[in-house]
Amino acid sequence: MKKIALLPLLLLLLSVFLTSCAQNEPVECEIFAMDTLMTVKIWGDERCLTQAVNEINRLDRTLSAVNENSEIFALNETGTAQLGEDTYALLSRAVELSKSTGGAFDPTVYPLVKLWGFPDGNYRVPDADALQSAVIGTEHVRFGGDTVTLDEGCMIDLGGIGKGYAAQCCIDLLAEQGVETAIVSLGGNVQTLGIKPNRSSWVVGIADPQEPSRAIATLVFQDSLAIVTSGSYQRYFELDGTTYHHIIDPETRYPADSGLASVTVLCDNGTTADAYSTALFVMGMEDGIEFWRREQDFEAVFITTDNRIFATEGAEDYLSECEFEVISR
Ligand code: ADP
Ligand code: MG
Repeated sequence: MKKIALLPLLLLLLSVFLTSCAQNEPVECEIFAMDTLMTVKIWGDERCLTQAVNEINRLDRTLSAVNENSEIFALNETGTAQLGEDTYALLSRAVELSKSTGGAFDPTVYPLVKLWGFPDGNYRVPDADALQSAVIGTEHVRFGGDTVTLDEGCMIDLGGIGKGYAAQCCIDLLAEQGVETAIVSLGGNVQTLGIKPNRSSWVVGIADPQEPSRAIATLVFQDSLAIVTSGSYQRYFELDGTTYHHIIDPETRYPADSGLASVTVLCDNGTTADAYSTALFVMGMEDGIEFWRREQDFEAVFITTDNRIFATEGAEDYLSECEFEVISR
């Protein structure tokens, strides 16, 4: 009798053991969206993973300035459009962030980005008059109800914030589904959720701007965090010995030339982190440090064009495997 009763008990224990093992093993998916390779890895079931991937693809279709079926494309084509909830909210946030960064981050740079040939790869150095007469600035964007209207010539580009927003949406969605641990890596944007079941740290590399396939430093931490890097090495072209990259200084209308090769932002919100990384790259280190002292909601790692690394006081504890100088409050 006793022996027979033991068997179901053993089977039950075995299945509990196997289930807990399964939760300790992540499931992972790689996709190509927003013009970059992305990975989503979760400690949860396949269904949640699929939902997260669908969310990224949905946002890609909605926010892209080049996809002819996107809401942003329609807005840029016609100058006015009724936007879905996400797009409206993100564009409003982008305009807010443009103001708080003194215009260094500017979602209306699209006419400039187009003149430089970045969206279609038809790279060229634009005519100086064409650059100066392009209509840019968030004062050309008007919000009313759920409709956005742009002044003649004004066009929106959410490329400097879209991946960070998608990462944040993905993490929010996973958390809502009860997933406790996840990491999404969307191009230069990494965002983590929670602590790994085996308590090992998250380790995120910062690319060496001179040799991007190599890490120049690593960030090591335990919990939820968004880490976003903007670098001149991410997209550029060369003409007559000069390199022109994809982050435009709205003030000069030329690729930002601030002495930085990359900026990595650490922040608890992915959307903010993405806009800040672009903005800080444009500002350069001196103005960027002033901005950091004022805003108090992020930390940063600056890499200069001569490959020196500077970390804000709060980023110091995260950095390893490199030599760096600390920027104090
Ligand atoms: P990446 O997209 O390579 O991760 P960023 O987040 O810095 O890098 O975004 C750069 C993209 O944002 C550019 O490709 C362009 O579409 C757009 N952009 C360029 N300059 C600015 C700017 N000053 N403010 C906002 N968006 C910008
Ligand atoms: Mg950005």
